[in-house]
Amino acid sequence: MYVVCSKHLEEAIDEFIEVYEQPPDLYELETITFTEWTAPTCCHFCDMNPKYLIV
Ligand SMILES: [Zn+2]
Repeated sequence: MYVVCSKHLEEAIDEFIEVYEQPPDLYELETITFTEWTAPTCCHFCDMNPKYLIV
């Protein structure tokens, strides 16, 4: 699972496919709500606010 900014979206998808050998599901963080999970405050690759969740 990756939480990334829009700049690192493609990089995260590539890495996901490499690790899990299947295409990820992609969600916009703004459009989903979590009950028991709080989204990380920064991108997996940099310090920007994350925009997408890749699972
Ligand atoms: Zn980033």
